Amino acid sequence: MEKSNQTLTLIKPYAVEHGYVGPILARINKAGFRITALKYLHLSLEQAEAFYEIHRGKNFFERLTRFMASGPIVVAILEKENAVEDYRKLIGATDPRKAGEGTLRKLFGASVVSNAVHGSDSDQNAIRECNFFFSSLERF
Ligand code: ADP
Ligand code: MG
Repeated sequence: MEKSNQTLTLIKPYAVEHGYVGPILARINKAGFRITALKYLHLSLEQAEAFYEIHRGKNFFERLTRFMASGPIVVAILEKENAVEDYRKLIGATDPRKAGEGTLRKLFGASVVSNAVHGSDSDQNAIRECNFFFSSLERF
């Protein structure tokens, strides 16, 4: 199967609040990703639950969705050859303490739940997540 060239990222509330939007987007560009869609949003709890539907029932679901609805986030579609896999490498492990040097989560993450950014984990989820946030008129 051909690899997708698009992935979805979210800059999570703590990172937005602490002024990391610019530094994170700069590193994304420097790593060779093109930003093809971009916006600020403040999710309702219901919207956060819908986005993280695949995690419903897990012990961190409520903490995660409440956190994601706690303040504004930045949402972007990133384009690059092999986008999903390469972006997961750029962000690093889910737990910032275990993320590699120079990764976005190591640099800007505060905790497992507040790990600075989201990145799609498969081509199929990337398509679903890009469509969740952006209409065709908002993608360039
Ligand atoms: P990733 O974002 O690396 O793909 P998951 O899909 O497993 O990780 O989890 C989604 C998000 O849920 C994580 O980015 C993190 O914010 C949060 N999360 C995951 N595991 C835990 C946990 N054990 N405790 C608190 N929050 C968690
Ligand atoms: Mg995931």
